[in-house]
Amino acid sequence: MTTPKGPPPSPDLRALPSVDRLLGHPRVTSLLESFPHDAVADLVRRQLDWARAAIRAGGDAPSSEDLAADVAERATELWRPHPRSVINATGVIIHTNLGRAPLSADALQAIRNVAEGYSDLEYDLAEGERGPRQEHIQDLLRQLTGAGAGLAVNNNAGALLLTLACLASDREVIVSRGEAVEIGGGFRIPDVLRQSGATLVEVGTTNRTYLRDYEDAVTPQTAAVLKVHAANFKVIGFTHAAETSELADLAHRHGLPLLHDLGSGCLLDTASYGLAHEPTPRESVEAGADLALFSGDKLLGGPQAGIAVGRGELVSRLARHPMARALRLDRLSMAGLSATLLHYVRGEATDKVPVWLMIASTEEDLGRRAESWRVAVGRGATTLPGRSTVGGGSLPGETLPTHLLSLDGAGAPGGAAGLARRLRLGDPPVVARVHEDRVLLDPRTVAPEEEQRLLDAVRAALGSAG
Ligand SMILES: *Cc1c(COP(=O)(O)O)cnc(C)c1O
Repeated sequence: MTTPKGPPPSPDLRALPSVDRLLGHPRVTSLLESFPHDAVADLVRRQLDWARAAIRAGGDAPSSEDLAADVAERATELWRPHPRSVINATGVIIHTNLGRAPLSADALQAIRNVAEGYSDLEYDLAEGERGPRQEHIQDLLRQLTGAGAGLAVNNNAGALLLTLACLASDREVIVSRGEAVEIGGGFRIPDVLRQSGATLVEVGTTNRTYLRDYEDAVTPQTAAVLKVHAANFKVIGFTHAAETSELADLAHRHGLPLLHDLGSGCLLDTASYGLAHEPTPRESVEAGADLALFSGDKLLGGPQAGIAVGRGELVSRLARHPMARALRLDRLSMAGLSATLLHYVRGEATDKVPVWLMIASTEEDLGRRAESWRVAVGRGATTLPGRSTVGGGSLPGETLPTHLLSLDGAGAPGGAAGLARRLRLGDPPVVARVHEDRVLLDPRTVAPEEEQRLLDAVRAALGSAG
């Protein structure tokens, strides 16, 4: 046996308290009121392991006080519910990292009603026996999109996977090279496609794909033509993409279905709000798509869901596929989605669905709100005109005029970045934009009910140097 080379154990290691001593520290003992002894002891042991490793790497021994504070901090981080609610002052309406679409009051109430107890999720009250789970949603989807049938699953990536597994497994799907895109978080359409067992046949070039490119790629192995709405980026300049109706004609001439992944699920005309026109499921169905797929929590403004609408025969095949059971929508999302769709049925979406309230906010109203924030915050605050974005892979490059509260980072510790960090770590956490040496807060994405808490958080962040 040889002894390992290296310096002898540092005396600092012996300066560390024992597990029992650290457990006896008042800050750690107070954790024992809420959490079991073993769980707290485990945290203490891990904290001491880290301290030992840090000392071996040349660091100083932390004091018992610091260790106890670290354990307490770790406990608060670890043992609080996640995700926490935050205030989105970024002006990005569908912010994927912040949970996408906030829900309407009716959707929340519907979720609460169903979550608290039992529901007729799959029960026919008139007959007193098992009933259909999707019929109600299907009726609403038919009415809102003009499609023959509809089905809601867990999310749109799931709807795409289910569609391809059901209709194109072991066969080929033709998609434009410019549309075989990444949909965010590292997930790519071609990868989802491959998981379904389908083979991707990419046609055309990144910027230009013609009808004849699709035509040339049709073989006896082709199962479907897929069109993907370039929802999160924009190719500008020398471009060409085939129209949905042309692609539908082509697919149908060959006896193939046209599948249209729309992404956002927009049911209103975005052009009435000064934005580019976002294609709607109804237009897609009218143009001849056999199935149109979209998310529930982007421009639709509901809970996470993936929706397929289209020809009855195809939708029933999807519904019967074993994967549909694995991807099915849970009862809470079903309740929230149904309540959200009802806002559109009643023609009240722009008054009730938060995403649409935000899109429809007028520049004057936003100006008044920014000004009232400026007055409330006082020194160091100004307002300036700016732009909000839709986000969430919808309407790339499209912005809406707004007015921002601007906080000067020059006097704040750590500058604007330090101030923004204190806002994020405050209670409630506030997420804002940093631009040059200013922190910018956009009233468009802050609900009026959140304003008071936002202003308190801003004042706290400006006042504290921690
Ligand atoms: C967002 C998006 C998806 C994925 O939808 P999720 O509901 O997030 O699963 C798929 N396709 C397109 C074009 C999208 O924009």
